[in-house]
Amino acid sequence: MSRVSIENVSKLYDGSGDGEGKIVAVDGVTLDIEDGEFLTIVGPSGSGKSTLLRMVAGLEDISSGTIRIGDRVVNDIQPQDRGVAMVFQNYALYPHMSTRKNMAYGLKLTSDLSDDEVQQRVEEAAEMMGIEDQLGKKPGSLSGGQQQRVATGRAIVRDPEVFLMDEPLSNLDAKLRAHMRTEIQRIHEELGTTFIYVTHDQEEAMTMSDRVAILNHGEVQQIGTPDEIYNEPKNLFVADFVGSPAMNTFDVTFDGTTLTATDFEYEVSSTRAERVRERAGDDASLVLGIRPEDIHIAEADAENAIETILDVREPVGSDNYLYLEMEGVEECRVRVPGDVKPREGEALTVSFDEDDIHLFRASDGENILAEERGQHEVTA
Ligand code: ADP
Repeated sequence: MSRVSIENVSKLYDGSGDGEGKIVAVDGVTLDIEDGEFLTIVGPSGSGKSTLLRMVAGLEDISSGTIRIGDRVVNDIQPQDRGVAMVFQNYALYPHMSTRKNMAYGLKLTSDLSDDEVQQRVEEAAEMMGIEDQLGKKPGSLSGGQQQRVATGRAIVRDPEVFLMDEPLSNLDAKLRAHMRTEIQRIHEELGTTFIYVTHDQEEAMTMSDRVAILNHGEVQQIGTPDEIYNEPKNLFVADFVGSPAMNTFDVTFDGTTLTATDFEYEVSSTRAERVRERAGDDASLVLGIRPEDIHIAEADAENAIETILDVREPVGSDNYLYLEMEGVEECRVRVPGDVKPREGEALTVSFDEDDIHLFRASDGENILAEERGQHEVTA
């Protein structure tokens, strides 16, 4: 087991065009991953996740910065000497080797364990992954899920200080993916080893991790527990990226007491108004964010009620997603329990609680109430 410390790490690639431009794939990332922690790096395609992970693995040179595994700076240490094992999206199994050989091969190359010891480790890892009866088969005769298990088993055999996983579940169908999420969590719990996991799937990140680091354009946008990320997104990017359906956002102006959007007005309490004034002034352009599950169907005379028309109701089993049209141009998404079934085309009044509002500065997308929400949750 080991902690991993990534300090101000950047990666520049040569641009392909005129030969002068550089592509900044990773831009000054600092991350500390605790011993035994499950940390997920999540972000859209091209945000630098794989590059960052590959630099920890030693598969990619670091342009600047320092990476430590345990107390050791590993910048110039060969991948096989870093005490890490990586699981790749495409599994990278040797097609001509049996499961047993695939799992044993790396260990034989990099350790001086006896054959018996290697075989014992392979059998223990195979048992852990539930593939004891697949040891004689070659990858071509295994299902995608079984290949995934072999790839994970091969990493376990290495007994690494740190597991690195790069989109390991992306090639599986949805049901198997959900199942393998819990399998990987179980392995993490049993081994107690540090895991760094890369995915583009925010749901995967939010369900599996101790902490999540959100990357965009090579920069860390926020790092925190899934709860912190969901309830106190630091900026609009994080707010929009995490949660499904996504958070509703409305451009609003604030005049000291009231948030005014194109199609509705929301009068905030005097204490809230004061806080907003403190942080944004009393004439501010803001973005109001409200999560779909925080909007409720309300009586017509409710405070801060908003008149809407239900455009589409989308049943998704336990929930219904409602797509509402407001008076003018704005729309919003609402999530209600599956037994709440208003009819399409019907008028609906909705409202939301002031405590559930997120407010971002329009100019830079920063959440101006993040700390306040934190305090609210702690004291609630
Ligand atoms: P992600 O894993 O988040 O999809 P990557 O780390 O693969 O992102 O890529 C980050 C950026 O670096 C992208 O703009 C990508 O095109 C660029 N990039 C990645 N690998 C190379 C490479 N070998 N040469 C040039 N550019 C690269």
